[in-house]
Amino acid sequence: MGGKTTMTNKVVIIGCGNVGMSYAYALLNQRTKVNEIVLIDLDQQRIDGEAMDLNHGLPFAPSKIKIRAGSYDDCKDAAIICICAGANQEKGETRLDLLSKNNLIFKSIIDKIIPTGFDGIFLVATNPVDIMTYFTFKHSKFPAGKVIGSGTTLDTARLRYLIGDKLSVNPKNVHAYVMGEHGDSEFVLWSNAYVGSVSVQKFLEKSELDNISLQVKNAAYEIINRKGATYYAIGMVLVRITNAILDDENTILTVSSYSKEHDIYIGMPSVVGKNGVTSLIEVNFTEEEKEKFSNSANIIKKEVDKL
Ligand code: NAD
Repeated sequence: MGGKTTMTNKVVIIGCGNVGMSYAYALLNQRTKVNEIVLIDLDQQRIDGEAMDLNHGLPFAPSKIKIRAGSYDDCKDAAIICICAGANQEKGETRLDLLSKNNLIFKSIIDKIIPTGFDGIFLVATNPVDIMTYFTFKHSKFPAGKVIGSGTTLDTARLRYLIGDKLSVNPKNVHAYVMGEHGDSEFVLWSNAYVGSVSVQKFLEKSELDNISLQVKNAAYEIINRKGATYYAIGMVLVRITNAILDDENTILTVSSYSKEHDIYIGMPSVVGKNGVTSLIEVNFTEEEKEKFSNSANIIKKEVDKL
């Protein structure tokens, strides 16, 4: 048992495939507070190679970072452990199909982390992300706010990109959210979608809004059909969440957060800072949106009950 230790700005990535390595590469390329990246994977030889490859980019990186392949002992003083390990969606598989495979993988990983005394934030990317985040919360017995899933942060980024592209506006000026399951029942909160201070509904017809919603929902399938997996954007999403934590930003992100009401994790606008998710933003749903959220929550609940 490794007792409490001083927190660092160390990030441990468990599962260094496409997603884990895209996250590491994005961390290396952006100026963040992260000063150490430790890679853990079943394939030790490959991550030794990954660490060498990343280190060779250090002369061009915006800040100094120690990067190496490590072991579970490295978790004890990590600020963030990001879990990207697990089976990936095959063509035609939904995210929910992955559950039984990833459940067992997560159990073995968390069982190795807890005895180290890790006291930072769990950040989960593995799909089905809402359920894997709930599993991490239950199995680790961590406070709910210190376990975060990437949730619909990626879907929200896809939405902002599509709206920005359609209206020729910087996606950073689009304030719109995808909520619910990171999966087929997710939905866009159109009643609260703005470009600058103007409602997106003022700019676009209903059919255009529906088309954007569909593109967001099907983005992963479309990418998987073309290149087998999605990873660059999620890597950048994970950096965004990492910065919100390490810079204690209190930024609103649609991460997967704990809903006490439903006893599930689900994508909701959440305030993210150094202690993880500290509060949720109350959303003014229309009746239709309320129904969509409740449908999405029920779908997650059904899967969570199988755990
Ligand atoms: P991948 O197959 O490329 O990588 C998975 C890695 O996990 C492999 O390197 C494998 O060796 C490792 N692994 C498996 N079991 C392990 C264990 N017990 N301990 C340590 N490492 C282990 O897959 P990927 O493309 O990187 O996708 C990873 C996960 O991320 C998938 O579940 C995928 O669906 C999910 N994903 C999530 C989002 C999101 O928005 N949250 C987006 C894209 C992908």
